Amino acid sequence: MKQFLHLISSLLAAVRQVFLSVLNYFKRLKESRSRYYSRRRDRKRAASGKTLSQNEKSLDIVYPRDLNPDIGKLPTENIVRQKPAGPENNRSSIFTQLKHMFRTAAGNIQETAGRRIRQTKSKRPPRTTGRRIRQSAGRRIRPAFVIAAAAGVFVLAGLITYASLRSKNVYTLDVTLNGDPAVVLEYGTAYEEPGAAASYRGSVIHSNDQADLPVETTMEQAPEDLGTYIIRYSAEYEDMKAGAMRIVHVVDTVAPELTLTTNPDAYTLPGHPYEEEGFTASDNHDGDLTPQVKSEEKDGHVYYTVSDASGNTATADRAIVYDDRTAPVLTLKDDVPLEIIVGDDWKDSFTAVDDLDGDITSKVKVEGKVDNYKEGTYTLKYKSEDAHGNASTAERTVTVKPLPKNDPSLAVNGEKIIFLTFDDGPGEYTAELLDILAKYDVKATFFVTGTGDYLDLIGREAAEGHTVGVHSLTHDYDKIYADEDAFWEDFDAMNDIIEQQTGSRTNIMRFPGGSSNTVSAGNEGLMTRLTVQALKKGYDYYDWNAYDGDVYETTDPEQISQNIIDEIQQQSISVVLCHDIKEYTKDGIEDAIRWALENGYTFLPITYGCFECHHEVQN
Ligand code: ZN
Repeated sequence: MKQFLHLISSLLAAVRQVFLSVLNYFKRLKESRSRYYSRRRDRKRAASGKTLSQNEKSLDIVYPRDLNPDIGKLPTENIVRQKPAGPENNRSSIFTQLKHMFRTAAGNIQETAGRRIRQTKSKRPPRTTGRRIRQSAGRRIRPAFVIAAAAGVFVLAGLITYASLRSKNVYTLDVTLNGDPAVVLEYGTAYEEPGAAASYRGSVIHSNDQADLPVETTMEQAPEDLGTYIIRYSAEYEDMKAGAMRIVHVVDTVAPELTLTTNPDAYTLPGHPYEEEGFTASDNHDGDLTPQVKSEEKDGHVYYTVSDASGNTATADRAIVYDDRTAPVLTLKDDVPLEIIVGDDWKDSFTAVDDLDGDITSKVKVEGKVDNYKEGTYTLKYKSEDAHGNASTAERTVTVKPLPKNDPSLAVNGEKIIFLTFDDGPGEYTAELLDILAKYDVKATFFVTGTGDYLDLIGREAAEGHTVGVHSLTHDYDKIYADEDAFWEDFDAMNDIIEQQTGSRTNIMRFPGGSSNTVSAGNEGLMTRLTVQALKKGYDYYDWNAYDGDVYETTDPEQISQNIIDEIQQQSISVVLCHDIKEYTKDGIEDAIRWALENGYTFLPITYGCFECHHEVQN
């Protein structure tokens, strides 16, 4: 089609060229005729002396209108939608121009002929010259008409062609995008506007085409954040408007960066859950995504995933390092005495707990052993090792000291003397008590009774260096304190038993309830009389100035011991009242003995006249 249109354009140009040639011919013809008449008129004027009329003079300047040399480029106007641009003469209709040209040419010819006629009439030439004039006029007019007719045909053909082309010509204003109409832009990448071009163009006739017209680009928002943006392009030319648009999709296809923190010293105990070493996640668009990271521990690995808002997912995994580098915690219990006296029970106590193996106390290896029946210093070395070879060691020393021994020779100044006295026995605990006393080489005094099943122990008491004194056969207050006879009858019977058991009678005694008793109040002044009688009979009676509290105050062995310790510190020589028929007395006595020995006291048995310890008689 375009080829065809160009062909038509060429044809039109050819027609134009021919037309112009015709016009030039007319112009030259007119000029030659003008010059002829001018010379002739000059000759006549010279002969007659007349001047030209105004009308005649104006004839000389009647030329065809000066044709637009650009007529071939004519109207690039859009006859459908667009008025043409250009100079004013370009805007006038081609028909008008052509018509004018034609009329001018024809009119010129007619006027030339008419002038000839008018000139002929005005001059009233003689008839004789009429034929010549007609002949002359006829000869000159005929070729002009032929040529005009030919030109007319050409013009008509051109006009028809042009009209045909023009009817098909459509002007359009187009905006053409540079680059793609749909752009996918990665987030963070600067958008570079490719721009657009606008052109104004005829579909057939191109003489009025305009390229590179200004295009206005508008966008409501710069395509920076994620989303879809529309960029509009518009152009205006004459009264036409055209536009185009481009869609820009800003997308995020970049996954977050997931970084694992690794501590070279970190490890996980086999069978234990992994303890997170740390991680960070950041996204080019969403920023810090660390809180969104999900992790899953599976088959010795930890798998991490995190996704950004655009659905880009980053993953990472780490192999868990399983190990155990922590040794068991070996603890030696501090409630185990590090110093004991030979014969004391001694039992070790410790624990070993491993972070992986748990309680492995039973696997602790102890090098060394404490012999609690043998004096000496024992070093114990402990070693606890877990299943992974991590070991803890510890060490402690236990000293087994010799028994402190009572040494009567130390009691030279009568300082820190203790007379332990036991009433109301012997009983079922007396034998054990004798063992304890023997252990520390402590000698005591037993004020015995004769109603129990252990009378044979009276002999042992004496045999082991203890003092045996009379207390009472029956210990029956009502009976013995009825009167003096009753008392001494009971007393003598007891001393008989002592003699049977020990081989000798004793001159040491203790009144049941003490010389200060009031249980004898039924016989007024009885104790006053009995105490004097006792001394006159050669007996030395002993009350007490210290008491272990084992009758009314306590049944606790520790308290028994503490009472003795407290009481013996109240005076330099103590006579301590105890009862060997009480189990708790037997149990508490040893600690008191040990304390006293370690604190410089000396235990002595009562001997006749060794020390006076009399209560104030109350009856
Ligand atoms: Zn008693």
